[in-house]
Amino acid sequence: MSREPTSHPKPKTFWEDQGDFLPFSRPSISEEAIQEVVDCLRSGWITTGPRVAQFEADLSTFVGAPHVLSLTSATAGLYLSLQAIGLQPGDEVITTPLTFVATLNVIACLGAKPVLVDIDPHTYNMDLDQIEARITPKTKAIMPVHFAGLPVDMDRLNKIAEHHGLRVIEDAAHAIGSTLNGRQIGSFGDVQVFSFHATKTMTTGEGGAIATRDFELAKRLAVLRFHGIDRPAWDRFSKKGSLHYDVITPATKSNITDLQAAIGIHQLRALDTLIGKRRALVERYQEKLGNRPYLTLPPSGDKRFGHSWHIFAPCVNESEMGMDRDTLMKRLKELNIGTGLHYLPAHLYSCYQDAFGYRPGDFPAAEAIGQRILSLPLFPDMTHGDQDRVIDALETLFFEAKNS
Ligand SMILES: *Cc1c(COP(=O)(O)O)cnc(C)c1O
Repeated sequence: MSREPTSHPKPKTFWEDQGDFLPFSRPSISEEAIQEVVDCLRSGWITTGPRVAQFEADLSTFVGAPHVLSLTSATAGLYLSLQAIGLQPGDEVITTPLTFVATLNVIACLGAKPVLVDIDPHTYNMDLDQIEARITPKTKAIMPVHFAGLPVDMDRLNKIAEHHGLRVIEDAAHAIGSTLNGRQIGSFGDVQVFSFHATKTMTTGEGGAIATRDFELAKRLAVLRFHGIDRPAWDRFSKKGSLHYDVITPATKSNITDLQAAIGIHQLRALDTLIGKRRALVERYQEKLGNRPYLTLPPSGDKRFGHSWHIFAPCVNESEMGMDRDTLMKRLKELNIGTGLHYLPAHLYSCYQDAFGYRPGDFPAAEAIGQRILSLPLFPDMTHGDQDRVIDALETLFFEAKNS
């Protein structure tokens, strides 16, 4: 029996429940995406299937990579990529301390050592001049992070890696839609891992994707993504699928569902527009905050770098502002302005101090930025009115502190 969809009163949004609170990030999900999810639910196929296949094909076209594998998160993507290149316990991977801890966690979870190099204070990305001194016979890979969506100079980094025979796994969690010399991140180099977490530049709720030009690696990743089985599930359950499969390695599972892909397909179609809105808002921040003594604005890179502005993260000048970063975040929250903290340097978390002996002072540039950085609200549907509230709040706190 077929039933007409019952009509519901329009549900209140999560943000309506938050009153006047302006979050630092909020997803922009189109009506088309919502309809695609509903269509998927009604279609009778809700796990990995035709919509995932379409999403991967669309991603492959957008980023310009021959092989794209979607999966449950960037964390899963980084982990499986390291596994797929054959990272062994005791190996070393070179990365940056100014990143989300997932970058280090995946290395340590595989029994390897995250070997860190400090950041370049002009880009907040890893300082390429410091990499070669950290390479040892145990080094297997370099994992750069395109911080905030500003690409690392991959032409230079890839040359260093090639010279030393190292794999390069780019943590591109911030960098979907970023470009270097006009080329999409994902269209060149070794392996790129994107995140589609709800606060990222495009989202599937949770999700991620790996891009690579290495066919053999892509084949291994496809197997590692799904129980070590040598072919996709929806082949088997559909009419044309075969009865048996082989398991060629023990593995866990990290496949995304067609429900997530339904969102992703439309996020990707809108991505250029969404990034355009971010860029326009950033320009407005730069215009209005560029001459304020209490902030140092984030690096935007020269004309080689197509910055996608996943976050807009200035540094607080404590003495001018009359308060430190944490106090400023607290005061802004009292004024109903949300901020993000990207990031406290990862080497200072207790498990990294305990397991690898990292200490305060090891990476002074990352620590100096990590102490002062905060992410101001930035999302595509943010209005000029929203943005003015942020700027006014900063000005109010600055003048209050100055006159007290
Ligand atoms: C968000 C993020 C990740 C993890 O992404 P998930 O999709 O949430 O697993 C990894 N690295 C960086 C730099 C990130 O910002």
